[in-house]
Amino acid sequence: MRAHWRPTVDAMTEILRRPRVLAAATRILAVLLLPVAFLRSPARCRYLACQWALAMRYPAEDLAGLSAPAHAAFTAARTEAFWRDRQLIGLTSGHRDAAHQHRLFTDAVRRTGSVTEARRWVLPPHESAHVRGTALDVRPTEGAAWLERHGSAYRLYRRYDNEWWHFEYHADTVPLRLPYPDACRPSTMVRMAG
Ligand SMILES: [Zn+2]
Repeated sequence: MRAHWRPTVDAMTEILRRPRVLAAATRILAVLLLPVAFLRSPARCRYLACQWALAMRYPAEDLAGLSAPAHAAFTAARTEAFWRDRQLIGLTSGHRDAAHQHRLFTDAVRRTGSVTEARRWVLPPHESAHVRGTALDVRPTEGAAWLERHGSAYRLYRRYDNEWWHFEYHADTVPLRLPYPDACRPSTMVRMAG
């Protein structure tokens, strides 16, 4: 009764989709890519192989539009996470243009029924670090946890209690950790204090 123990194609596909299996495959891929990366740039081969492997693991991610320092900080941080701690970090959302951010904000207003409630999750374009190219929404949760522990070495900081995925690059200051995005408005701070 071989059909009973032989894994089906569906079952195999399911196994291959598991995060741990994908992570292991990504690490193997990066090691295989090291010689090619070495030919391209001996000094940066670990950096290059890591970025290539992660781009294949997270094919939808888009690092375009990030400010140059934010891009450099993020790719350096995830190279360290990858090779030292075997932790993958992918980018879910980085730079957004103002029109995209405006859509997200108006969608949130419609969904929540109020501007105040929407602002707990999404800021309008002129206030959003995503539009400035200095915000990064990352995944998975373990990757975000790594960045929360080690990100300050790269000037990447988690900003909000209610968004484990959202980090920002701050070149000169250590930003205040806030309960949620809208919490730094003077009117909101009065409400919180009261
Ligand atoms: Zn964000």
